Amino acid sequence: MEKVVIIGSGCAGLTAALYAARANLRPLLFTGRQPGGLLTTTSIVENFPGFPEGVDGYELMVRMQKQAERFGARVQFGTVESVDLSKQPFRLSADGETVETETLIIAAGAGHRHLGLESELKLENKGVTYCATCDGALPMFRDKPLVVVGGGDSACEEATYLTRFGSVVYLVHRRDSLRASKIMIERTLAHKKIKPVWDSTVTEVLDVAQGKVTGVRVKNVKTGSENAIECAGLFVAIGHTPNTALFKGVIHMDDHGYIVPRHGAATNVPGVFVAGDCSDRVYRQAVTAAGLGCAAAIEAERFLAARNE
Ligand code: NAP
Repeated sequence: MEKVVIIGSGCAGLTAALYAARANLRPLLFTGRQPGGLLTTTSIVENFPGFPEGVDGYELMVRMQKQAERFGARVQFGTVESVDLSKQPFRLSADGETVETETLIIAAGAGHRHLGLESELKLENKGVTYCATCDGALPMFRDKPLVVVGGGDSACEEATYLTRFGSVVYLVHRRDSLRASKIMIERTLAHKKIKPVWDSTVTEVLDVAQGKVTGVRVKNVKTGSENAIECAGLFVAIGHTPNTALFKGVIHMDDHGYIVPRHGAATNVPGVFVAGDCSDRVYRQAVTAAGLGCAAAIEAERFLAARNE
């Protein structure tokens, strides 16, 4: 029987693991499909306190895991496939193994949002990607025109990163201004290789018949006019969807699937706590996720202490 099980290995999950481990609770953490979470797919993280020169996203997560393990956290590669939170102890099934636990911390994060086009789906990994850091350096994108969709920090970061590889980077955004932070906007729009395409949406990825990306069809939402942009890659950076499907109907969530805590990190099910991007649609920063992970672990610890009094 576990005292604390944590689902997710991003900033929230690993910080929860660190705090729970230091409270002698020997937490068991399931990494999910992407150990280290979304931050491992970014390049340099410049806004995590304590790293004045910035830190590589992957390296930051490796360090967090080592720190948690140093105090006794057990990090297990695996995905939790089903949960029964109807009674104590909670029962989880992960990669065929059943685990019982007194408390659960959900830090499952969020995944990349898709445009929802059939051609996008068909050309995924054939030129359509959701991670410039992971795929940008592939030979197929070298010295070729590339397209990034989105207007937030992710889109700006992806576009800037891709200027290393592409001949030109078109930044297609559905409005005429970016929602990214000021410093990112300035950096992005000042770059000679980045060409913004305002007020536009991608309506089709070309060319499904050829089995690779040769361009995108773009529609101007103000004029209705359509044209094609030739490119070898489409990088979609339009935000995220919380990884909470497993808890639907059991844990309270909003219409977009973000878990809504009852108070602090506590959910509507006593003993189940939540932290990070799967419950935060406002801040979504590495440092806020870490803070929420800390809060969830402290609450789990207090819950266990109160039960055993
Ligand atoms: P975001 O801020 O939610 O931005 C998503 C962008 O995609 C918006 O510009 C949105 O357009 C657009 N969009 C959404 N759905 C779309 C659709 N179906 N078709 C076309 N465009 C669509 O997401 P994000 O950029 O991934 O950032 C998420 C959070 O992480 C933010 O809090 C951000 O600050 C943070 N972040 C920080 C850094 C950093 O500090 N270095 C880096 C990356 C991310 P509208 O503008 O019209 O809504």
